[in-house]
Amino acid sequence: MATEATDFPAPQIDTSKAHPARVYDWLLGGKDNYPVDEAVGRVLPPEAHDAARQNRAFMQRAAAWLAAQGVDQFLDIGTGIPTEPNLHQIVQRIVPTAKVVYTDNDPIVLRHAEALLVSRPEGTTDYIEADVRRPAQILEHARKVLDFERPVALSLIALMHFITDEQDAHGIVSELLAALPPGSHLVLSHAASDLYPELAQQVTEEYAKGGIRLGFRTRAEVARFFEGLELVDPGLVTATEWFKSAPAPQPEGSGIYAGVARVP
Ligand code: SAH
Repeated sequence: MATEATDFPAPQIDTSKAHPARVYDWLLGGKDNYPVDEAVGRVLPPEAHDAARQNRAFMQRAAAWLAAQGVDQFLDIGTGIPTEPNLHQIVQRIVPTAKVVYTDNDPIVLRHAEALLVSRPEGTTDYIEADVRRPAQILEHARKVLDFERPVALSLIALMHFITDEQDAHGIVSELLAALPPGSHLVLSHAASDLYPELAQQVTEEYAKGGIRLGFRTRAEVARFFEGLELVDPGLVTATEWFKSAPAPQPEGSGIYAGVARVP
């Protein structure tokens, strides 16, 4: 099921400036990006490629872990350009009836949404083009597909560092969490400003030259997104350290914080 075209204007792909989804796609070795995006990606330190890959691998482990707990409803905001395996493929392998609502504000993701909408017949996938800064709009749409009387996993993976404090990043997450019933989960990963500060500064500057504002955060600032929730083991750690019922990842460093928490 896709959102009716009347819900948002016809997608405009702007190839004159870099876009986060396309830079991330380039970092992951994807083909759905333009020279402006590659120009930003190329000048980033090599660790940025590792961070993108480590983040994506965290998404896969966290989604599989949640599905293994029986979680069968997912609201994924800041989905990104489809990169296999996508979240619904991971969770529907474990729970074929799982329902996934994807959201991104980049028209290029909408253009590729077809790949996200190939659900297993027993389950449902859905896509809405929307901005996380309009949580009420996202929730209104998600309620048409997901049952908010039952637990929902909200995933904000490598998204919130694109939202600054002035844009009320923490308030937005609180508003989304307030809609979730007990037993729901928050899955969040976020680029760190304090793990490799010089690298973080360099990455922020290169994105800024490409016209993309980044707001990397310290561990304490990222921990605030989980306030009032119960972090599941191993807590708020780095992307490579987070694992559950999967083989321990190799002990490589990561500049991405990651955590999964339960709504009490
Ligand atoms: N969650 C995916 C993709 C991360 S890249 C993964 O971790 O693999 C970040 C994504 O967030 C991009 O696709 C970008 O378009 C999206 N994004 C950035 N700002 C956004 C906003 N304000 N609202 C919704 N999506 C946003």
